[in-house]
Amino acid sequence: MNPRVNSANVLHDLIASVGGSVHLPGADESARGPAICNGAVDRRPAVVVKCRNADEVRLAVRAARLRNFPLSVRGAGHDWVGQSVRHDGMVIDLSAMRHVNVDPITRIATVEGGATAADVIGAARQYGLVAVTGNIGAVGMAGLTLGGGYGPLTPKFGLALDNLLNADVVLEDGSLVMADCTTNGELFWALRGGGGNFGVVVSMRIRLHPLSEVLGGVIAFPWSEARTVLHAYCALMSSAPDELSVLGGIFPTLDGQPALFLAPAWCGDPARGQPVIAELRSLGSPLFSNVGMMSYADMLARFDAHLIKGRSYAVQTRWMADLSSDTVDALMAAGKSRSSTTSIIALQHFHGAGTRIATSSTAFGLRRRHFMIGIVASWDPVADDGAAHRQWARSLSSSLEPSAIAGGYANLLAADAYEQVDAAYGCNALRLRRLKKRFDPDGVFACRNSSFPLNQGS
Ligand SMILES: Cc1cc2nc3c(=O)[nH]c(=O)nc-3n(C[C@H](O)[C@H](O)[C@H](O)COP(=O)(O)OP(=O)(O)OC[C@H]3O[C@@H](n4cnc5c(N)ncnc54)[C@H](O)[C@@H]3O)c2cc1C
Repeated sequence: MNPRVNSANVLHDLIASVGGSVHLPGADESARGPAICNGAVDRRPAVVVKCRNADEVRLAVRAARLRNFPLSVRGAGHDWVGQSVRHDGMVIDLSAMRHVNVDPITRIATVEGGATAADVIGAARQYGLVAVTGNIGAVGMAGLTLGGGYGPLTPKFGLALDNLLNADVVLEDGSLVMADCTTNGELFWALRGGGGNFGVVVSMRIRLHPLSEVLGGVIAFPWSEARTVLHAYCALMSSAPDELSVLGGIFPTLDGQPALFLAPAWCGDPARGQPVIAELRSLGSPLFSNVGMMSYADMLARFDAHLIKGRSYAVQTRWMADLSSDTVDALMAAGKSRSSTTSIIALQHFHGAGTRIATSSTAFGLRRRHFMIGIVASWDPVADDGAAHRQWARSLSSSLEPSAIAGGYANLLAADAYEQVDAAYGCNALRLRRLKKRFDPDGVFACRNSSFPLNQGS
């Protein structure tokens, strides 16, 4: 018998004693692993422990250590690389821990470790409050926050991690600690950017902001205007106010042809926002434009609607200071030569509040203005093995490299992007590595991949 399965039976007894739900391989379909968004990930865990509270997480961590299981944590399953599943390991599945409690007086949300961005926004909405999230609702709030958290409100309120007030964390020895600026301050520093490398966040408190509606939507330009619009978009973002974020991208239109999309979100006075949207529209001759007042929740839901279930994905990312002619040339060439009609390139501009925070005050590695580029190759897993699509994403990443800022957004880094992973934390890398040794000396929480610098000696 597979010794891991045997061990898993022991785990079953252990976990059952506190009521956690345990799946073993072969028992049923769900035992293959928890649902994750990337169909290209074919790793199979030995055991999945669906925890319902912090005590069950503590027990699961202790049991994994006792039985020497590689451990991974599944929040909402929206990591492109599928790092929430380690082969033959134990998955601590937090999908049953999604409760969100909002205090409208203090404007603080208490968020369980498996809650999605949509869970948080849904709970805050009735009080006219919002949280800093990514662009879609399905992504896990803790996973997003621990790695960074770029989204429509980042220019105004900083990254999602800049809005983290404290966290309850289960460490590698199964102990539960609270971390904030004054208690376990070093752990709190590392959590804000260091990803899931330090423990399981079972609950966290995040700052909310009053905002009932945004002026948001999408403006699509024909491919023939893409080059001009990209240059103009870059120029416009160089002086963009904090109230404005514009997600740019090369996305397919309904007929599968590429088009240049700009998705603005204006979170200030709508009267001041309308001329800004008009200026964006005037960058070309839009194929369509549907920008209007809407709730923040509805804006995220629009992006969620474009997530196709059951697809396979390969992702690359780059940080760029601006969009030089070479960069635009590379984006145009890649847009034209997409290996699949559903592959996309997204550009998120970072400016405003997040740039006014000192790089040393959290572990996040890049605080200056930049574009974060996500290259997402997408294909039908039944149709092919994905080689051409992976190559398309890699090739664009290589073309961008000469003008790129070293490193990249940790939450999007591919497993094989070794050089970028090395540089992702910049001047914070050494401190982060020291803290990794202090809080997780055996590398139990190997978030990203085993070559991650945090998982090597300093
Ligand atoms: C469709 C899509 C859109 C995205 N859009 C954005 C975006 O707009 N902005 C942005 O910044 N990012 C975006 N991302 C990236 C996303 O923020 C990260 O991949 C994030 O880690 C996903 O978290 P998750 O819980 O959904 O994923 P999971 O796969 O469940 O978790 C990924 C890893 O995060 C860590 N983790 C998750 N929860 C916990 C926890 N409670 N405690 C400790 N560690 C934990 C673990 O290491 C885990 O393995 C997007 C990803 C996808 C797939």
